[in-house]
Amino acid sequence: MRLSKAFVPTLKEIPSDATIPSHQLMLRAGLMRQLTAGVYAFLPLGYRAIRKASQIVREEMNAIGAQEFHLPALNPEALWVQSGRRNIPNFILSIKERDLVLAPTHEEVISWIASSGIQSYKDLPQIWYQIQMKFRNEPRPRSGVLRGREFLMKDSYTLDASWEGLDKSYDAHLEAYKKIFTRCGLNFFVVGASSGAMGGTGSQEFMIESLHGEDTVALAGKSGYAANLEIAKSDVPKIGRLPSDNKIEEIHTPNVRTIKQLMEFLNVDHMRLAKSLVYRHNGKPLLILMVGNDQLNESKLVSALGGGAIEPMDATELNKLTGADAGSIGPIGLEGFRIIADRRLEEANGLVSGANKNDYHLINIDLKRDVEVDGYFDLRTIEPGEPAPGTTEPLKIANGIELGHIFKLGTKYSEALNVKFLDETGELKPVIMGSYGIGIERIVACHIEQNRDDNGISWGKSLAPYHVHVIPVNMNSKETVLQANQMYRRFTEAGLETIFDDRENLSAGFKFKDADLIGMPYQVIVGEKGLKNGQVEIKKRRTGERIMVSIELAVSEVQRLLQE
Ligand code: ATP
Ligand code: MG
Repeated sequence: MRLSKAFVPTLKEIPSDATIPSHQLMLRAGLMRQLTAGVYAFLPLGYRAIRKASQIVREEMNAIGAQEFHLPALNPEALWVQSGRRNIPNFILSIKERDLVLAPTHEEVISWIASSGIQSYKDLPQIWYQIQMKFRNEPRPRSGVLRGREFLMKDSYTLDASWEGLDKSYDAHLEAYKKIFTRCGLNFFVVGASSGAMGGTGSQEFMIESLHGEDTVALAGKSGYAANLEIAKSDVPKIGRLPSDNKIEEIHTPNVRTIKQLMEFLNVDHMRLAKSLVYRHNGKPLLILMVGNDQLNESKLVSALGGGAIEPMDATELNKLTGADAGSIGPIGLEGFRIIADRRLEEANGLVSGANKNDYHLINIDLKRDVEVDGYFDLRTIEPGEPAPGTTEPLKIANGIELGHIFKLGTKYSEALNVKFLDETGELKPVIMGSYGIGIERIVACHIEQNRDDNGISWGKSLAPYHVHVIPVNMNSKETVLQANQMYRRFTEAGLETIFDDRENLSAGFKFKDADLIGMPYQVIVGEKGLKNGQVEIKKRRTGERIMVSIELAVSEVQRLLQE
């Protein structure tokens, strides 16, 4: 590609609307432009990287026997009503005049195809995938292509006759994903993730660690524990029982507002203060008891409740139902509420809580004796430093960007959308499904996050839009221009993807800066000094190392470097 004829609109300044490095560099290197919030146009250089990432994904999916589809982005709204996902908040963009929606993912369409296409166990297993646009009603598109409203996803779906079959299909994806992200030059890790509202039986996410990540994960390097904070567990102890067996007592606690004040006023350990949180679950009042300083994890809460809609109860409503304000609520004498508690409180006694009467607390509550707790669940968010499960190793908390997600769906969609097969005994059964996604733009943006320096992008070989960037130092020297043209021709003929900066009237300094910014792995610098000795210079973008080679050996030297 001759830069004089190409469209590579590089920018000297950092665009003010871009805050994270990959977003800034994708704009500055002329890879893409934002059309409107969360919607990006890929320009030629950027699209080459996208295609390379897609091709790696495609090869590894094909290698596990997956078959490529191309499914419509426009879906009938009714299909999403049938699956029960039409009204998930911030999910679906729709075209109202035609009762169509833009598919945010494709479980529904896959199920529609399978419902008529799969008849018997002999038709199973199947692995189906596509690489296609997805649309999502993201409320806050940001961080460039990392969170778009329109984005490319590789999504695959497995259809199995048995749960063992699902495990196999899932494991094949786990291994394929590791190969994909390794080939894409990413330094990634895998974490256990929430199956949450989707109601599946297992799920893992692939992440890169990044300060800009929207996910939070708990990691313990030595023991290998890694989990999304949504599900992360620790071996923090239960608070246990005190020897005393005192009766509940009501204490007047005026002007005691904070947990610290309450601890001092009642002279109790903070762990004995049971905090009451009040929610509605599918509309019904729910009281959640937690150890005073622990934080409720809403994602764990939803899993514990087996899905459904949760929302904190608002203050006026709470007062109407209980006669007290949020700080004075407790489990004793509370009517019409389901009460659940965090595991740390299992068996606990000697607890303090609100008395459902403003400015009063109850002491000596024994959950075994005094409260009908409808289940103890792991509901708290872990804290850094707590021991990883089954170890003494302290957990560290980090931010991550999710690259991909693999998910054992089970039979949720096959039940809802009637995907059934006849098993060996002639019984009609729901197909057991899995679903697996990878964000293609996220691969490219994460690759840039991990492969860059102050001067720009420093592409790894597998995703680099081009391999080689030929730069003539002085366009006024006829000999330089002639030799540089020949270099360009030789590299291209050897099958190397090559950029040639043949632009006139630009200083060498300007060209070098541009080359570092767009970041191809090898620069071949053709200058008068070297030519005197029949040589050109090869600069390795990543290390800055420079080597002089003879004109004849330049191509083979770069080929050798690419293979290293
Ligand atoms: P997130 O938790 O980041 O919102 P998600 O859980 O909604 O993502 P999935 O539905 O599992 O994502 O989608 C599969 C993959 O698609 C994700 O792992 C991610 O790489 C990519 N992806 C999801 N949403 C977006 C988006 N808005 N923009 C770009 N890529 C996305
Ligand atoms: Mg996710």
